[in-house]
Amino acid sequence: MTVAGDPRAALQHDVDNPLRIRVLALAGLGRSGTTLVECALADGVTMAALGEVVHLWERGLVRDELCGCGMPFGRCPFWQEVGSLAFGGWDRVDARRMAVLKARVDRVANIPRIGAPPAAAGSFRHDLEDYRWHYERIYEAATTVSGAHLVVDSSKQPSLVHALLSSQRLDVRVLHCVRDSRAVAYAWTKRVRRPEARDADGQFMTRYTPAKTARHWSIHNSAVEALRLRGAAVARLRYEDFIADPVGRVAWIQRFAGIDGAPPRVGLTRHTLEVTPQHSCSGNPLRFARGTIALRPDEDWRTGLPAADARMVTALTAPLLAHYGYPLRTAP
Ligand SMILES: [Zn+2]
Repeated sequence: MTVAGDPRAALQHDVDNPLRIRVLALAGLGRSGTTLVECALADGVTMAALGEVVHLWERGLVRDELCGCGMPFGRCPFWQEVGSLAFGGWDRVDARRMAVLKARVDRVANIPRIGAPPAAAGSFRHDLEDYRWHYERIYEAATTVSGAHLVVDSSKQPSLVHALLSSQRLDVRVLHCVRDSRAVAYAWTKRVRRPEARDADGQFMTRYTPAKTARHWSIHNSAVEALRLRGAAVARLRYEDFIADPVGRVAWIQRFAGIDGAPPRVGLTRHTLEVTPQHSCSGNPLRFARGTIALRPDEDWRTGLPAADARMVTALTAPLLAHYGYPLRTAP
């Protein structure tokens, strides 16, 4: 247990409640445009964006980084209310133990154990349930505090989505966000400042070589495909398709998420998005954007990624790249 007292008892009490908490989980590999998709979905009324909740423990509780609203996590009224409702206050959550729990449970290599029958999983099952319970509490409290129909978690980590899947408290629908592996590989080579960092550490986003990103791209997308085998509700969204028709794609996602009676997203047009500040606890710097931003294809990788790297990334990701409908040839 990481929480003083046992609020879990209260949770057990309403397990039979058929009104499960609705969560739209974005899954895939980072730099696939998920923050933009999350911003387009989240109007704060039908959907509330929570950002990458998987990083809340370290970046919110330990580092006190900036929420998407611009306030430090510890002073954001939304997250303070969520913490009170979920745990009786964030000071009752042991962030360091959550880091240990996350390392034990939330890894792609653990996905077979996460999906194993309870009897076969041994002590791992206890860690898994403990870890998942914290997310259940956050989603439930965030739904209440926001008043939205559902919450969006853009963590993307496939192992987290696998862990959430067997929850009796949650109705989890998975939006699998895919982007051309060559574009993703190029994005991970860029030096990107993190405006939310409040100390010397973490001033810049992690960078990876194209070869490493290619391996991550195949592994993470395969891990999301495995969710279908477990019976999860999964819809695949190619970033390029979203940019080509953002209004149509958002309406399609709303239907998939079960809020098909929702009005069209205010402030979204074919070429622009008016960003509504959200209490996203972690994510791409785009979440700090204000006002109207342009929606246009990002094709920088075609000139920025060296041809040899493009060929190598293509070769390493070819099976899924073709499966997702991307051309294997990048040059005329
Ligand atoms: Zn906030």
